[in-house]
This record gives sequence, C-alpha cells and structure tokens, in this order.
Amino acid sequence: MSVRTGIGWDSHRLVEGRRLVLGGVELEYERGLQGHSDADVLTHAVIDALLGAAGLDDIGQHFPDTDERFKDADSMELLRLVVAFLATEGFTIEHVDTTVVMERPKLSPQRDAIRASLAAGLDVEAGRVNVKASTGEGLGFVGRGEGVAALAVATLTAP
Ligand code: MG
Repeated sequence: MSVRTGIGWDSHRLVEGRRLVLGGVELEYERGLQGHSDADVLTHAVIDALLGAAGLDDIGQHFPDTDERFKDADSMELLRLVVAFLATEGFTIEHVDTTVVMERPKLSPQRDAIRASLAAGLDVEAGRVNVKASTGEGLGFVGRGEGVAALAVATLTAP
C-alpha cells in the first residue's frame, strides 16, 4: 500500500451580489465570492489536494473556467465527480485537513456544518475531515477583506 499526500490552495475575491459558500455551506454575509462557478474556495482547495495526491493535474485542467458547463457550477458536485473518479482508480481518502483564511465573517458558527458537508462530499466520516479557521490579522488581501483563501492537504492510500 502506498500513501500519497496532496496540497491545495485557492483564493477568490469578495464582491457584492454574490453568495459566500464554503465547503458547500452558505454563510450569511453582505458579500460573496466571485468566480465562474459558485466560487466555493474551500471546496476548490480540497479538490486540488485530492487531485494532487492522486497525481492527476489540477482543478483548472479538469473543470476549465472557460467552459460554459461549469458556469455557476455547484463545486460540491465537482468534488463528488472527483471523489467517484478516485474510487474507480483505487484510491481511498484517509484524511483531509483544511484551513480557511478569512477576516470576516467568523467561520466558527458554521464550522461543524462545513465539516459535515465536506465529509458527505468526500464520502468519509466527519472524523476524517478537519476545518480550521485563520485570519489575515489585517494584512494582505485577506486582512483588507478583499478576498478569502483556503488551503487543504489530502492523504490518500492506493493499493
Ligand atoms: Mg477557485
């Protein structure tokens, strides 16, 4: 059995008139994330971590933002496609750790819901998913409230 790890990173701009969706959960906020899909920055980071661990390029390769099929796409649907593909390739998802880097709103009230949502999308129990929250401490694009970033590390096993 071999153990594979992959890293994922994503960031999206916060703008008015958009929803703020993280890990498939919509948060109450006056702005949301701009993007071709639903701009679920956390799910995008998780997808990239999974693809990285499997050695399967990146999210932009599989779901190009120039493709109209993915306009306003539900990123959890894209995650489920990737998870199903990994299963057919013989990979098992052992663990996914994540960090959301966001100044506002506070993630903590929705943390458990996000964790449960990601676990469902990954088809694993919630104990195999972790969601951490960090801020920019007033620094950079996160600190100025211009955007949200997310990181993820996925650990897979393969026969
Ligand atoms: Mg993205």
